[in-house]
This record gives sequence, C-alpha cells and structure tokens, in this order.
Amino acid sequence: MDWSCQACGACCATSAEWPRFSLESDEVLALIPAAFVDDPNGRMRCEGDRCSALLGEVGKATACAVYTVRPEVCRTCQPGDPECRMARARHGL
Ligand code: SF4
Ligand code: SF4
Repeated sequence: MDWSCQACGACCATSAEWPRFSLESDEVLALIPAAFVDDPNGRMRCEGDRCSALLGEVGKATACAVYTVRPEVCRTCQPGDPECRMARARHGL
C-alpha cells in the first residue's frame, strides 16, 4: 500500500468531531494558532466537515497548516488504518 497523505487529506475533511483534543496539555494546545482552534468544543475549528488547518484540495494535494503542532488524533491516524480507509471511502478515494 502506498497512499500519500500529501495527495489525500481525506481524514482531515471527514467530520468536525474528528480533530478533537484528547491527551494534549494546555501548553501543547497553546502552540496551535488560535485562529484554527474551536475552544468551546475542544477541537480544531472546522468549516463543515473540514478542518480549518487543511490546505489544498482533498484527493489532489493537501497539507496541514499546523503540522508540527497538530493534535494527537492527527498523529495517530496512519495510512491504511480503519479511520483512514473510512475517510478515503467517504471521499471516493
Ligand atoms: S491517513 Fe489516510 S485518510 Fe488521512 S491523509 Fe493519510 S492517506 Fe489520507
Ligand atoms: S490539524 Fe492538520 S492533520 Fe489535524 S485534521 Fe487539521 S489539517 Fe488534518
């Protein structure tokens, strides 16, 4: 399997409930620029199902604007795992 996240981005555009904060300390969360954070809901700010930090076009070329300080859930999701497959299927990838 050779799925490139840089040519995908599906998991970042599948549900506003997905990029939710979990184990991060307040200090770590403070590193994420406030414009991308939905504080009241404890997650990344989303526009519809799409994380506001996702750059580019899903299925073509994408990047994360906060990659080095992205939440735990984003670090955990790996190409080919069940969440990845579900997200890709939802986008027809
Ligand atoms: S983990 Fe999977 S769904 Fe997420 S960007 Fe990478 S290939 Fe796409
Ligand atoms: S923070 Fe980055 S890796 Fe996480 S959902 Fe948003 S765009 Fe994707």
